[in-house]
Formats: sequence, structure tokens, C-alpha cells
Amino acid sequence: MAFRRNPLSLDELRELARKRFLGRSASSASALSVAEAQHLFEELEIHQIELELQNEHLNTARLQLESALNQSNQFNDFAPVGIFSLDGAGTITKLNLAGASLLGRERARLLGSRLALFVADADRPNFNAMLEQATGSGDVQSGELTFANKGPLVSHVQIKVAALAPSLGWQIILLDVTERRLAQEQLRASEERWKLALEAAGDGVWDWNVLTGETAYSRRFGQLYGFAENEYGHHLDDWITRIHPKDKSRVINAHQDCLSGQHDSTSVEFRGQCKDGNYKWVLSRGSVVSRSAEGKALRMVGTQVDISARKQTEEALLVASRFQQAVFDSLVAQVAVLDHRATVLQTNAAWRQYAHACGFSERPCCLSSSYLSILACLTEQDPQTLQAAQLGISAVLAGELPQFHLPEPFFTPLDNRWFSLKITPVHDQAQRLVVSHEDVTALKTAELASLTLANVDTLTGALSRRNFFNLAEQEVARSIRYDLPLMVLMLDLDHFKTINDQHGHAAGDVVLQKCVQTVTSVLRESDLIGRIGGEEFAVLLPNTPLEGGRALAQRIVESVRANPVQAGGKPIVYTVSIGAGCLSGEHAFDELLGLADAALYRAKDAGRDRLELSTELPPALG
Ligand code: GH3
Ligand code: MG
Ligand code: MG
Repeated sequence: MAFRRNPLSLDELRELARKRFLGRSASSASALSVAEAQHLFEELEIHQIELELQNEHLNTARLQLESALNQSNQFNDFAPVGIFSLDGAGTITKLNLAGASLLGRERARLLGSRLALFVADADRPNFNAMLEQATGSGDVQSGELTFANKGPLVSHVQIKVAALAPSLGWQIILLDVTERRLAQEQLRASEERWKLALEAAGDGVWDWNVLTGETAYSRRFGQLYGFAENEYGHHLDDWITRIHPKDKSRVINAHQDCLSGQHDSTSVEFRGQCKDGNYKWVLSRGSVVSRSAEGKALRMVGTQVDISARKQTEEALLVASRFQQAVFDSLVAQVAVLDHRATVLQTNAAWRQYAHACGFSERPCCLSSSYLSILACLTEQDPQTLQAAQLGISAVLAGELPQFHLPEPFFTPLDNRWFSLKITPVHDQAQRLVVSHEDVTALKTAELASLTLANVDTLTGALSRRNFFNLAEQEVARSIRYDLPLMVLMLDLDHFKTINDQHGHAAGDVVLQKCVQTVTSVLRESDLIGRIGGEEFAVLLPNTPLEGGRALAQRIVESVRANPVQAGGKPIVYTVSIGAGCLSGEHAFDELLGLADAALYRAKDAGRDRLELSTELPPALG
């Protein structure tokens, strides 16, 4: 670039100066003296030199200015933005290298082209409007433009337009934002894809701008609630107002926790109102996908899916489970459900009441406890019951038994009760079991009473004949097996018929009772006494050698004699005769009893009130 030179030539300038000079000399027409002319000449010479000096300064300044302009142009060329000057017709009059590169052409070829030609058709009205507005308002206009698909590199630019002096054109800066726009478009496309995928899976999608409350609901979202496309609304409030009043605060709090940063995502179930006014259960899941630098949630995206069917199933299951619990609780028996490890999962009211009544609250009696440890507490560690129950549980679990019944009721010493025990498999995947305890104390008491009746003589309390024989046979067999000594006594009241005759049958009964008491007082714990006949008794003395047995039998004879019965204020003196048989070799019990009976006869014959030993004695004593 060169400075514009003075428009006049040097000759023209001289002519002009001469005219001015003549004009001046005409107005001051006085002759100069020599000295004055000399002085004037000197002055002119000095002026001349002064002008030359000024001229040199101007030349230096001009060179500096040209160099600065060149630098400025270079600087513009390396600027990262495209810089354009347009004339009033929109033609490019000047542009930097970055600008040429943005347009994908050589700089020289672009000069004289209209910039508008590079703008995409759709955006051209925008571009023209920006030029007009810049001119009209005098303000810098900003915006984004899409370029026509001519340049290979750039498709999106950010533009700033400033108008120069009226009708002189515009100064324009373009910044390439293609990459950013592409990234934005890719993001949008990817969002479209996942939204479509979710829609296809049946999930409604919501996209909430937290700052403005604006919310985009997908087509499927509206459909969930029976709305047509775009009918649901466009704001978060459109959703919030349709939440069931009982669920609303729960849902809001869940989302609030996300906004506050306490959680990054939320999952909440609630009832949402449909277009027809009915409510529907949905599961809403959401995540904060964008936060400000300060951690403030900016955007939250989520899905909603219809879970009505699942809720209905859950509801039905709940009703079924309540029904089962009601049935359960109505049972008199104590019932518990166990898992396959026999851990208590569920109990009925009777079970809990019993546990409470027994003060089991501090013991391992209820939920999550081992059933066997509860049974151990109840039975005070009865090994037989525990072992049987354990085997029963295993057998039921293994499918070996359709149901297990404890063969005998178990006894609870804590409250003296008897319970039956039954274990039934549920036949479900979890292999659960139902165990029930039924109070059978009344039955068991009656059974025990009848057993006692059968085994014990009701008048005297001695063992019944049958029971005595059973026990005695076992005892004899045991003594033979272990080679232990044993004795049997046959005991008969003397002249009992006379006692009856003299004192009456009732007094005779009392004598029989007292006789057994007196004999029992002499016997040891391990000895047995049984009523064999009307006034005949047998006594079994296990682990008793002949000498010991003889002494004991003798004490019985003496003790009875010394303890008359008081009846009707008068003493009834009575005596007994005893025959004793001693086990030797392989005697069966009835043989032994026969020996004792024979000895008894001899005692009677010998005058009664005495002891006679069997004649068949071991060789050493015979
Ligand atoms: P002995 O010394 O020879 O044994 O004479 P005894 O009278 O005891 O023998 P006997 O066999 O002649 O009589 C037995 C009597 O015992 C007859 C019977 O009425 C009586 N008696 C049997 N059972 C009972 C009973 O349960 N109560 C009473 N009071 N008497 C009974
Ligand atoms: Mg008798
Ligand atoms: Mg008799």
C-alpha cells in the first residue's frame, strides 16, 4: 500500500505560490533596501532548509506507517478466525488467510465474490437480515450459519457482523464451529437412538430441563397414560399433578435427593393418573445427566414403565398370604413354617402365644431361630425326641416320607404338657416345611392312667400280675445273661379267710394294703412286688445272692408281724408266710416261681409266719 501523493505537480505548485506571492506584494508595495533584501533572502534560505528537514521526517514516518500496516495485515492472516471486509454490495474487498481457508478457495480468487453465495440457501435470508440489522442498529450482530456444501472443510460457522460507516459495507468475523456442531448432532442422534430403543422396549422417556421445568415426554410416555402424541404436556408439572396424592411427596423427595446430589439416580414406584382418570402403577427411573460446575442438577432423563400387572400379582399374593396367615392363626395347633435348614420363617398365633406364655421371648424360639434348638428348649434336651425329629425332617426333605409324625408325643417339663409333632413338606422350590405341635396332654394323661390301671393293682399299688411277670421275665433273662444272682419270694397272708370273717372284707382290704406298704418299706428301689393272687404276692430281688435275699425275706416276715393293722380302733395282727427261690443256672422265671411256691407250701405246713427256702439251691449252700 502506498501513500496518496500531493495531487499537484511541483510546477503547478510553484505557479500557485507565485500567484499568492504577487497578491501579497501588491498589497504591501514598498521597495526593500539592500540590507532588508539580504535579510529576507537569508530567512528564505533558512525556511528552505527547514522544509527539507520536515520532508525527511515525513518520509521516515510514512515508511514506519507502511511497515505497521504490513505487520497488521500479517497478523490478520494468522488470526484463528476469518476476517472479511465487504463493500456496500456485500462483495468481499478484503479477507485474511483464515477467511480464505474457511471458504476453501485462494484469497485472490475470493476478492470480488459475494460472501452470501457461500451461505447455505436456507440460511441466506438470515445472513442478509444480519447485515441489515448491523447497519440499522449500529450494533454488532451475532449468530450461527450453515455454509453451502462448497467448501470441503467447513459447514458451520459462528458469525459477527459490524457495519462500517453508512454504505461503506461491513466488517465480518467467522469462526469455524463445524466440529462442535457435529459433536452436538452426534449426541442428539445418539440420544434419539437410546430414546427409540427405550420406546421400543415399552418404556416412556422423559427429559427434564431442571432450570426451566420444561420436560419432553416421548410418544410412548403419553401412551402409557392413554394420551395421544404431544397431548401429555411439556412441563414437569404435567407429570407431578397426575401423581396419586398418597404417592406425590414420596416421588418428589426421591427426585429431590437426585437434584441435591445425594444420589445420581432414582427408582420409584407410584400411581400415575391416566387420561380417563384412573390410576396406573408405574416404575419411574431417572438419572441426572448434567450438572453445573457447582454441582447443581441441570438435566435429568428417565423412563417410566407400566408395572400394573406386577402390582396386581403382588396384591393378589399379599391377599393370599394374609388369607394363609388368617387360616394359620385360626389353628389351635402351634404351627411354624421352616426353611430347608429348619430355620423358623413364619409362626402362627398359637405358636407365638405359647412361646410368650412359656417366657420364651428371651430364648431362641421365634423367627430366624433353629427349630431343633426350640425343640431342645421345650423338651429340656430330650435326646430321643430331638434325634427322632431330626431324622424326620431329613426324611421328609429327602422325599422318603410324605409326612413325619413323632412316634410318641414329646413332654414339656416346663408346664407338664404333652405335644404331638407333625412335619409336612410344602413341596415348593424353597423346600419349606410346616411343623405343627398339638397339645395332647389330655389324651396322654388318660392313656397313662389306663396304662397304670393295667400295670398296677389298684387296691394295693403292687404291680399287676401280668406286668410283674413281664418285668420279672426280663430281669431273669438279664441276670442269666450277665450271670448275676437273683431271688424270687412267694408271699401269702396267713389265715386271711379268718381275718375277713372276723373283721369284714373291707378290713381285709386294708390289711392287704398295709401288708404291701410294710413289705415295700423293707424292699430296695430296684426290687419289684406284684399281686399274684387274692392274698398272694411275689417279690423279685434282682442282683441279690441267697444270703442277702434270705435276710431280707426274714425281715419282711418280722416286719409284718410287728406291724398290726389298726381297723375300727382294734389292732389286727396278721402274719405272712414266704417261700424263696434262688436263680441258679438257666431257670426260666416261672420255674423259679414254682420253686418259691413249693417252699411257700412248706412254710405253711411248718406252721406259717415264717420263711422257707427252696430246696433246690446252688450246690455250695444245698
Ligand atoms: P392259709 O393260711 O392257708 O393261706 O389260709 P387262708 O385263709 O389265707 O387261705 P384261703 O385260700 O383259704 O383263703 C383266702 C381268702 O382270701 C379267701 C378270699 O375271700 C380272701 N380274699 C381273696 N382276695 C381278697 C380281697 O381282695 N379282699 C379280701 N378282703 N379278701 C380276699
Ligand atoms: Mg393265705
Ligand atoms: Mg392263698
